[in-house]
Amino acid sequence: MTDPGASDPGTRVSGAHWWDPDRASHLADRPRFCPNCGKGVTGTEGISVEYWEADRRVFHTWCNTCGWSGNIVRVERMVGHEPEH
Ligand SMILES: [Zn+2]
Repeated sequence: MTDPGASDPGTRVSGAHWWDPDRASHLADRPRFCPNCGKGVTGTEGISVEYWEADRRVFHTWCNTCGWSGNIVRVERMVGHEPEH
Protein backbone atom coordinates (compact mmCIF):
# COMPACT_ATOMS: atom_id res chain seq x y z
CA MET A 1 0.00 0.00 0.00
CA THR A 2 1.36 3.42 -0.91
CA ASP A 3 1.17 6.32 1.47
CA PRO A 4 -1.13 9.00 -0.01
CA GLY A 5 0.98 11.73 1.58
CA ALA A 6 4.34 10.45 0.35
CA SER A 7 5.03 13.62 -1.69
CA ASP A 8 4.32 15.88 1.33
CA PRO A 9 5.93 14.39 4.45
CA GLY A 10 3.67 16.52 6.62
CA THR A 11 0.59 14.62 5.48
CA ARG A 12 1.78 11.02 5.95
CA VAL A 13 -0.85 8.98 7.70
CA SER A 14 0.98 5.71 8.40
CA GLY A 15 2.65 4.77 11.67
CA ALA A 16 1.67 5.22 15.29
CA HIS A 17 3.77 7.44 17.53
CA TRP A 18 3.39 9.36 20.77
CA TRP A 19 3.58 12.62 18.80
CA ASP A 20 0.70 11.76 16.46
CA PRO A 21 -1.89 13.97 18.29
CA ASP A 22 0.45 16.98 17.96
CA ARG A 23 1.16 16.08 14.33
CA ALA A 24 -2.56 15.84 13.56
CA SER A 25 -3.16 19.22 15.25
CA HIS A 26 -0.32 20.73 13.25
CA LEU A 27 -1.75 19.45 9.97
CA ALA A 28 -5.22 20.75 10.85
CA ASP A 29 -4.10 24.21 11.99
CA ARG A 30 -0.97 25.04 9.96
CA PRO A 31 -1.20 28.05 7.63
CA ARG A 32 -2.08 27.07 4.08
CA PHE A 33 -1.64 30.42 2.35
CA CYS A 34 0.91 33.22 2.46
CA PRO A 35 -0.40 36.34 4.27
CA ASN A 36 1.60 38.52 1.83
CA CYS A 37 0.79 37.15 -1.65
CA GLY A 38 -1.95 34.59 -1.02
CA LYS A 39 -0.18 31.66 -2.67
CA GLY A 40 0.02 28.28 -0.97
CA VAL A 41 2.72 27.56 1.61
CA THR A 42 2.32 23.78 1.93
CA GLY A 43 4.36 21.09 0.16
CA THR A 44 7.03 22.60 -2.08
CA GLU A 45 5.32 26.04 -2.03
CA GLY A 46 6.78 26.91 1.37
CA ILE A 47 7.12 25.65 4.89
CA SER A 48 5.47 26.21 8.22
CA VAL A 49 7.33 25.07 11.32
CA GLU A 50 5.43 25.02 14.60
CA TYR A 51 6.89 25.76 18.00
CA TRP A 52 5.39 26.56 21.36
CA GLU A 53 5.74 29.47 23.76
CA ALA A 54 3.94 28.18 26.88
CA ASP A 55 0.40 27.47 25.61
CA ARG A 56 0.81 29.66 22.51
CA ARG A 57 1.35 27.87 19.19
CA VAL A 58 3.60 29.78 16.77
CA PHE A 59 3.85 28.85 13.08
CA HIS A 60 7.06 30.19 11.60
CA THR A 61 6.17 30.30 7.91
CA TRP A 62 8.09 30.90 4.70
CA CYS A 63 6.62 31.43 1.23
CA ASN A 64 8.57 30.10 -1.75
CA THR A 65 6.67 32.38 -4.17
CA CYS A 66 7.37 35.85 -2.72
CA GLY A 67 10.01 35.06 -0.10
CA TRP A 68 7.94 36.35 2.83
CA SER A 69 8.69 34.80 6.20
CA GLY A 70 7.25 35.47 9.60
CA ASN A 71 5.38 34.10 12.57
CA ILE A 72 1.67 33.35 12.42
CA VAL A 73 -0.17 32.99 15.73
CA ARG A 74 -3.86 32.28 16.22
CA VAL A 75 -5.45 34.81 18.54
CA GLU A 76 -8.45 33.82 20.66
CA ARG A 77 -9.10 37.33 22.00
CA MET A 78 -7.57 40.67 21.09
CA VAL A 79 -7.91 43.83 23.13
CA GLY A 80 -7.07 46.96 21.17
CA HIS A 81 -7.58 50.68 21.12
CA GLU A 82 -9.80 52.46 18.61
CA PRO A 83 -9.40 56.24 18.50
CA GLU A 84 -12.51 58.43 18.49
CA HIS A 85 -13.79 59.38 15.05
ZN1 LIG B 1 3.98 34.81 -0.54
